[in-house]
Amino acid sequence: MRERFAKLGVTRLARMVEVSRILNAATNLDQLLTYIIKEAATLTNTEAASILLLDPDTRDLYVTASSNDIPPQMASTPVPLDNSIAGVILQANKPMYISDAASDPRWNKKIDEAINFQTRTILGVPMRDVDRKPVGVLEAINKIGSEFTRQDAEMLTILADIAGVAVERARLNENLQRAYVELNDLDQLKTDFIAIASHELRTPLSVILGYLSFLREESTPELLSQIDPVLDAAVHLRTLIQDMLNFQYVSTGREMLKLTEVDIVTLVRDMTADRDETAVVKRQTITVDLPGESLPILADPSVVEVVLSNLIDNAIKFTPQGGCIDITAERHGQEVWVCVSDNGIGIADDHLDRIFGRFYQIESPNRRQHEGIGLGLALAKELIELHQGRIWVNSDEGVGSNFFIALPLAGMS
Ligand code: ADP
Repeated sequence: MRERFAKLGVTRLARMVEVSRILNAATNLDQLLTYIIKEAATLTNTEAASILLLDPDTRDLYVTASSNDIPPQMASTPVPLDNSIAGVILQANKPMYISDAASDPRWNKKIDEAINFQTRTILGVPMRDVDRKPVGVLEAINKIGSEFTRQDAEMLTILADIAGVAVERARLNENLQRAYVELNDLDQLKTDFIAIASHELRTPLSVILGYLSFLREESTPELLSQIDPVLDAAVHLRTLIQDMLNFQYVSTGREMLKLTEVDIVTLVRDMTADRDETAVVKRQTITVDLPGESLPILADPSVVEVVLSNLIDNAIKFTPQGGCIDITAERHGQEVWVCVSDNGIGIADDHLDRIFGRFYQIESPNRRQHEGIGLGLALAKELIELHQGRIWVNSDEGVGSNFFIALPLAGMS
């Protein structure tokens, strides 16, 4: 490569550096191809230039860009690898010079006829990817005033080398963009589905709960032991559906919040006043440590309650029998920090930043020992962010977890 550059001379070399800079920065495939053919024609002083790219699936070549106005039906007609000049260049993976295209049986005259052009001479070089595998062919057509020189071949080869890598990168980038759009569409579909399903499930469940409560009141003591588990299951289902419904807050944004000044200390105290039944059954100790002063925040209290009860429910759920759960609130500068700690199963490092994603669960769905649909923490994060707050976790697998939420104190911003 260095030898090649030495022969190019300073002016052409400077131009090549500039071309390389532009090609490296380009991400749009069409613009990139247009730029390459323009440069190819200028650098080799030719009437026209074309790029034929290899379709990775069919392994046919297509005229993808040309300084001549190729009709669309010609551009979409495959150029066979065998029996075409571009095909031979690609397969041999080396440059080729054609001094009289008209008399070469491999030259496709139909294109010339369609655009009323006469191809006389062709200098064609393979375009290669980073692994030096050919991905297309760059052709300079009809040298003006003289014959193609060795230097033209050198220049075109270097240009094609830079261009091949740039084309590959632009294609990857386009695929990535496409995948990103598809992912966004899928995410929207999922959100819509949750909204519809949760709405539809809520009504029949209210009927079930209503009749079950009524039945419970009217039932005999023997029947109670059969009704209670059904009622518990229906209440659990309602919690799950409520989590799904709460996502509406997130999609409609801050406007849905009923913001008011609330004392977070009172809110946490009231929420934790009743002993949680599951924690009682699991003989867990829940300690609540709150400051003497009030800590006012601007928030929707019912939403903050949803977040805190998700954190507390998780702490209870992922802490074994006899474990401890501590809930604290304290002032940190202009913020209040609420922390829910447990000495439960903890979370391994590689899951820590993913547990706040929608539907993320560490246990695989078919081996799950715990109930839940992986929405609680995602919801908590999105709801806390709607309050201009932050949520994060410190955890050691097998030791326990500390979930923190930070919310701005009212009147501080
Ligand atoms: P789920 O409803 O499945 O519990 P979450 O979004 O609330 O969903 O939590 C996501 C995952 O994060 C859980 O499935 C669990 O693996 C992990 N996790 C959450 N809280 C704790 C905790 N206190 N201790 C250990 N793991 C936890």
